[in-house]
Amino acid sequence: MSESLTLPAGPVGGWPELQPGWVWLCGAGPGDPGLLTLHAVNGLRQADVVIYDALVQEDVLSWAPQAEHIYAGKRGGKPSAKQRDISLRLVELAQEGKRVLRLKGGDPFVFGRGGEEAQTLIQHGVPVRIIPGISAGIGGLAYAGIPVTHRDVNQSVTFVTGHDQSGNTPGSLNWKAIAEGAQVLVIYMGMKHVAQIAGALLDAGRPADEPVAVVSQATTPDQKVLETTLGRMVEDIAGSGMEPPAILCIGRSVLMRQVLDWQGLAAGEAPRNLDPLGRGRPAEVS
Ligand code: SAH
Repeated sequence: MSESLTLPAGPVGGWPELQPGWVWLCGAGPGDPGLLTLHAVNGLRQADVVIYDALVQEDVLSWAPQAEHIYAGKRGGKPSAKQRDISLRLVELAQEGKRVLRLKGGDPFVFGRGGEEAQTLIQHGVPVRIIPGISAGIGGLAYAGIPVTHRDVNQSVTFVTGHDQSGNTPGSLNWKAIAEGAQVLVIYMGMKHVAQIAGALLDAGRPADEPVAVVSQATTPDQKVLETTLGRMVEDIAGSGMEPPAILCIGRSVLMRQVLDWQGLAAGEAPRNLDPLGRGRPAEVS
């Protein structure tokens, strides 16, 4: 039984129907089911099949009790043969006339290979809809109390992947240019090669005392946050026992957590510092 979402107001023309033979390529957000979009929930209620990734929290699947749930776990850095199987499986299911919801962690088009899957589907004549999601590098940091942009800190953000297709630190990246040009760096899949990444940034002149945050399992009940510096991060991560999935944020926006750690505040902690950037005047005064 599929059921479209009943909500008071939808997009112009009403809530879209997930039709047989279609694939909706959908972001699930970083973990907390409350961060699903309404389009995602609408798709989950109608799907015959949900094909989901390792990063999708099982809780999210309970929004699609009527659907078959197929796990297509794939760990970062593995060769792309398996990716091809997943894409072709999507084609097959659509061609069988199923209503297919392809659910990916975060946003499907942010380091999620959503572009490749959508391209394969379209090359095979399968109609697709793309449903963006909240990416871990933005929403995950927000749950840690770190604003990815903050007017007193940065006018740009650089999103980087710590893996390339072969599983190595991306050789094609110009780390020197990144070190010189990126005001705040947000690194996905950075845990495996953290030593190389930190080394490359330090060699290129980023200061060893630059603030760094590591947020693992962001937005889930197991979320952990480590505050450290570029010079100490390798050691501190090893000592913390933190594991992927984790986002690394390098830059002064990390300092804002001293005042914006809203989860800590909700748990009764006091703000550590009401003016962590040392502006000396209230936030609303420019
Ligand atoms: N499409 C996803 C990213 C997929 S790449 C998105 O937009 O968020 C996988 C990487 O995303 C992980 O290695 C980690 O760096 C990051 N990630 C995904 N979910 C996360 C979470 N809940 N907490 C911390 N990092 C996460």
